[in-house]
Amino acid sequence: MDFVILDLEWNGAYSRRLKKFMNEIIEFGAVRVDDRLRIKDTFEALIHPQVGKKISGKIKLLTSITNEDLEGGLQFMQAVGQFCKWAEGSVIMTWGTSDILALIENCRYFCGSGRIPFLSRYVDLQAYCEHLLCADNTKQQMGLSTAAGLLQIDDSGFDHHRALGDSLLTLRCFQKLYSSEKLEPFIQNAESDEFYRKMEFKTTTICDLNDPLVSKQDLSFHCIQCGHLAHRCGKWHLKNKSFHAAFYCRHCGYKFLGRVQFKLKYEGLKVKKTVQPYIEETAECKNQKSPPAKIEAKSSRNM
Ligand SMILES: [Zn+2]
Repeated sequence: MDFVILDLEWNGAYSRRLKKFMNEIIEFGAVRVDDRLRIKDTFEALIHPQVGKKISGKIKLLTSITNEDLEGGLQFMQAVGQFCKWAEGSVIMTWGTSDILALIENCRYFCGSGRIPFLSRYVDLQAYCEHLLCADNTKQQMGLSTAAGLLQIDDSGFDHHRALGDSLLTLRCFQKLYSSEKLEPFIQNAESDEFYRKMEFKTTTICDLNDPLVSKQDLSFHCIQCGHLAHRCGKWHLKNKSFHAAFYCRHCGYKFLGRVQFKLKYEGLKVKKTVQPYIEETAECKNQKSPPAKIEAKSSRNM
């Protein structure tokens, strides 16, 4: 089984036909490796843009690709055709899913179908590497250079922000973390409708506590000192897409801020609850009387 690590460069371009901006792909870069991750071949293609006549200054600066370079490039569907032949029979891998979303968008625009012709098995290497590098509670998606740093890979020899250079750097990260057994569950069947639904699903955050998906239990907090159910002593506030409220434990007198966030993902609702120390000036429990001394004693014993 061969793996192909693909990376794309794109340019934000305004489409008159769609009446909106799209990410027009301007470069393909890929490396093909065998099942022991030895390099067999590389692929590079520049695309002559059709939607945006000129690439933005930012992209020019980032990639050092010039408009003149792209003049001699292939048409998007020609590049897809060549890549199909070159990558045949392989498992396609990208760092994160944004390149896959750009491919869906470009295929839909240039050939009317959002299906990616060369995709039958797919791995999101960012998800794989994150799974092996971080604990399960990762909040942010890890950038390629961050991962390379964590893996002590010297990335100075790679052609940064060029498709081939980035695919080779991704390969270096993959080589450091490769295990065929661990990779197995990350290989997705990319030929199903479900794959495309999942790719294009946009995670949203619920910002209304009256939403039927929000349960009473999601809004209750237990005291982290003694484990008893705490009482909310202030209104819920929405801040940075999560709800905050002050809580007070009648049992041990502990005060804290409860935070809850509701993310609607493809897999379903994800509720994230955290507890923060109570800060006197900002909280609303000021008018709460001190708890009875007996209970106070108990709480200090627990500490
Ligand atoms: Zn308590």
